[in-house]
Formats: sequence, structure tokens, C-alpha cells
Amino acid sequence: MDFALSEEQEAIFDMATAFGEAEIAPHAQAWEREGTIPKDLWPKLAELGFGGLYVSEENGGSGLSRLDATLVFEALSQSCASVAAFLSIHNMCAKMLDNYASAELRDRYLPRALTMETFFSYCLTEPGSGSDAAALKTRAERTNEGYVMNGTKAFISGGGYSDAYIVMARTGEDGPRGISSIIVDDGAEGLSFGGLEDKMGWRSQPTRQVQFDDCKVPAGNLLGEEGKGFRYAMAGLDGGRLNIAACSLGAAQAALDATLTYMGERKAFGKPIDQFQALQFRLAEMEIELQAARTFLRQAAWKLDENHPDATKFCAMAKKHVTEVGSRVADQCLQLHGGYGYLADYGIEKIVRDLRVHQILEGTNEIMRLIVARQMLAERG
Ligand SMILES: Cc1cc2nc3c(=O)[nH]c(=O)nc-3n(C[C@H](O)[C@H](O)[C@H](O)COP(=O)(O)OP(=O)(O)OC[C@H]3O[C@@H](n4cnc5c(N)ncnc54)[C@H](O)[C@@H]3O)c2cc1C
Repeated sequence: MDFALSEEQEAIFDMATAFGEAEIAPHAQAWEREGTIPKDLWPKLAELGFGGLYVSEENGGSGLSRLDATLVFEALSQSCASVAAFLSIHNMCAKMLDNYASAELRDRYLPRALTMETFFSYCLTEPGSGSDAAALKTRAERTNEGYVMNGTKAFISGGGYSDAYIVMARTGEDGPRGISSIIVDDGAEGLSFGGLEDKMGWRSQPTRQVQFDDCKVPAGNLLGEEGKGFRYAMAGLDGGRLNIAACSLGAAQAALDATLTYMGERKAFGKPIDQFQALQFRLAEMEIELQAARTFLRQAAWKLDENHPDATKFCAMAKKHVTEVGSRVADQCLQLHGGYGYLADYGIEKIVRDLRVHQILEGTNEIMRLIVARQMLAERG
């Protein structure tokens, strides 16, 4: 068993870290204040192959493994978890195109998704259905010309910002088998957006409701086959969960690194605060927690890459564990900065706010426990 990253993996991590330090970190707080990320960031990330991290090389993507991709998200999140997580959503959509789009649809959308001239959003959640996503009500009626879509999607990252939306909509019966995935272009007739959501974290990512009022979509925008959209939407989630966990890990590591430096500089009672053994023990606890989380995450990513039968269970366990560790560590780092941790200038409070939502989305951590427990009960026989 070899736990070391390969030279290539080290290079991927270093490249993403350097990009984040140069192009993201200096602007992260301003983008948060402005509530948006300049669109010209994305083609620069695309030049590194980050627009289609695990899109097959055959279709023009980078063809990386899921483990490699977690390294990119961990590295970028050292600079800003909100930007990195936004990139993860686009990548999830690009992979859906790679896997399921017809050749015609793929040729139409994938090249610009890979260069990130077309930024994609993923639209599953609705005001009345989140965890119970298969209860979604947005309907796409088939007409002679294509589909007419009606309904509302809630909490859409990139709503009103993205260039295209992969929308999970009902084309048939109730339940998961009546759902299809359909691409809706920005500017489509009948497509509109709610107001900008005022959020605790991820503030640089615009989040809005996406509304469809007799929205007309060409029949050719159906992704794959009718009735399989829920399966496609869920298939992306194992990897999405790894990415989100990696975002928690990278940002928490950045908070810990900053805290280690700060504790050497800050004095109290005549000595640097890193000389108090109680605080040294807290540093050690955080280091142990993060290293264990990293090993667990990479094991889960390896299982997904290997198509291991318990990959879904491991992705769920890693998502739950790593996102909770990440938030715990970030919160402790804020505490160790004293009052300064609460000030935006030190960057720690942003990490605490950004990481909190990782316990809620890509399936809440309660749903992660549900997935784990169901598998345990099934295995018991
Ligand atoms: C900032 C942000 C960005 C988002 N971006 C996107 C996006 O781009 N695209 C998208 O489609 N969605 C997005 N979401 C939505 C997100 O995926 C949902 O919020 C999430 O799935 C939870 O759904 P809900 O909010 O409806 O909560 P609910 O499903 O109503 O859950 C409420 C509570 O009940 C618990 N619960 C529910 N069912 C069970 C159960 N069976 N057993 C135990 N506990 C249960 C939940 O864990 C939670 O604690 C985003 C959300 C946020 C906050």
C-alpha cells in the first residue's frame, strides 16, 4: 500500500496552489463583497485543464482521476473555498455532458464548457424539495417544437450568472424515473431569476432561484435519454461530495497554517501564545484531525476511481467526516486568533462562514449518514 502522491499529482497540487495564490487569494475578499466572481477568471483556470478535470481525454478533457481532482480542489481552496466549490459545480456538469450527451449535443456544448466560455449551473433543488430531490415538480412538457418548462429551482449556484443550466425536470411519472436532464441556455424565452440570496458564506458565488414560465427549450437539448435524468444527476454526486470535502480540507489547512504563524507572533502574559501547552495540544489535535481527514478522503476517491462496490458509502462517509472536521478546525483557528479572528482582515472568519454550507449541500450530512446506515443494514443481510 502506497500513500504517497505521485510526482505528477504533486505537480497538479502545486500548480493549483500557485494559481490560487496569484489569481484568487488577492481578490477573494473583494469578490465576496461584490457578490460575484469576474468571468474572466474561468478561461484562465481552463487553460490549466480545470474546466473539464475528469472529462475524458477523448472528448477534449483532462482525463484526471477523482483523486487527482480532489487535489485541485484542496489546493485552490487554500485561497478561496467559494471559488473552488463553484468550479466543482461546473465540472460536475461538464462530466454529465461527457458521459451522457449525444454526439451532437456534446459538440455543441462541451468545447466551450472546457474552455469555460460557457459556465454551467446544476439545477436540482426546488423550494419544496431538497433532500427528497426525486419529489421535484418542475415539469417539461413535450411539444412539436421541443419542451415547454414550468417550475422553480431554488438555491442555484450561478443562477442569473451562468451561461447554461442543466435542469432536472419532470417529463413523466412521479418519482425518480419520470425525471429528465435538459440544458437551458441563458436568455431562453421564459427563463428568469429570483433576487440574489443574502448568504452566510459562499458570498462571492451568486445564488438565485431559477424560474421557468412556459420556457421554450429545443428537443435537442435533452441530455441522454428521457426518464434517466435523476440517475445522471445522482451519478455526479459521489465525485461532487469528494470535491466539497476537499474544499473543506484545503480551506481548513490554510486556516491552520495561518494560525500556526499567528501564534508565534502574538504574545500574552509575556510570551508567544504558542508556548502555552494547552494551546499546543489544540494545534496537535487539529493537525491529527486534518491528516486523518485527508487520508480518509483520498481513500474514498481511490475507491471511486476503482469503481469499488462500496465507493458510494465511502464518498458519503468522507463528505460527512471531512466537512465536519474542516468546520471544527476553522472554528478553533478563529478562537486561537482571539478578537482578530473575528475581523475580516485576518481571513479566518470567511473560512468559517464558507465551510459551514458544506455540511448542507451535495446531500446534507444527515443524508450522508442515511446512505451509510442503509448500506450497513443491507450488508448485514
Ligand atoms: C449556498 C447554497 C448553494 C446551493 N447550490 C445548489 C445548486 O447549485 N444546485 C442545486 O440543485 N442545489 C443547490 N443547493 C441546495 C442544497 O443542495 C439543499 O439545500 C440541500 O440538498 C438540502 O435541502 P433543503 O435545503 O431543502 O433541506 P431539507 O431537505 O428540507 O432538510 C431539512 C433538514 O432535514 C434533514 N433531513 C431531511 N430528510 C431527512 C431524512 N430522511 N433523514 C434525516 N434527516 C433528514 C436535513 O438533513 C436537514 O437538516 C444549494 C444550497 C445552498 C445553501
